[in-house]
Amino acid sequence: MTPDRLQRLLVEVAETVVRHEQELTALDQAIGDGDHGLNMKRGFVAVRAKAESLSAQPLPDALRAAGMELVMTVGGASGPLYGTLLMTLGKELAPDGSNLPAAFSAAVAAVMARGKSQPGQKTMLDVLAPVRDALAAGGPGLAARLPEIADSAAAATVPMQATRGRASFLGERSIGHLDPGARSSALIVAAACRVLEG
Ligand code: ADP
Ligand code: MG
Repeated sequence: MTPDRLQRLLVEVAETVVRHEQELTALDQAIGDGDHGLNMKRGFVAVRAKAESLSAQPLPDALRAAGMELVMTVGGASGPLYGTLLMTLGKELAPDGSNLPAAFSAAVAAVMARGKSQPGQKTMLDVLAPVRDALAAGGPGLAARLPEIADSAAAATVPMQATRGRASFLGERSIGHLDPGARSSALIVAAACRVLEG
């Protein structure tokens, strides 16, 4: 990963999240407290502002620093969880990124531990876990296939009843809505893949 590519990766992910602020807000208004768009925008505006200096660092350090930035700026339940994801990814990833499947798997496990949560509870993990599994399975054209995998996984949260996070307070009324964190995870995966594929 060259500094230039890493910078493009950070910028593409950050700008994608910021562009979708209103959509994420609307999703969180339906089954949460309506702050997911603003939370994520705040965090990724901060990452966007630091993209150049972050990308001058080795890949693992850059990811760890971006994760710390998210912990400090996003807030809500999702800030510490996305922060944990990136910080653990940075901690586990080899400088050349060659062990991405194992490092991503460790990062998803750290999110589960932090959130005391598992896939099937209508959260970001319902996207992150299938992405982890697809990375582990590997195969050709992964970066081209992952966005669709993440999108379908996010869509699959619609019929779920939330049993973690704020949406769980709604009980059965959480059914029939897309989980905001699942949607933001799918957006992040797709944005990263656009840069890694090109
Ligand atoms: P808050 O719920 O504190 O308002 P956000 O609105 O920013 O925080 O984020 C909500 C999203 O965070 C949810 O849609 C869900 O995907 C994710 N989330 C919440 N709690 C957990 C948890 N315990 N484990 C995994 N993800 C969670
Ligand atoms: Mg919220």
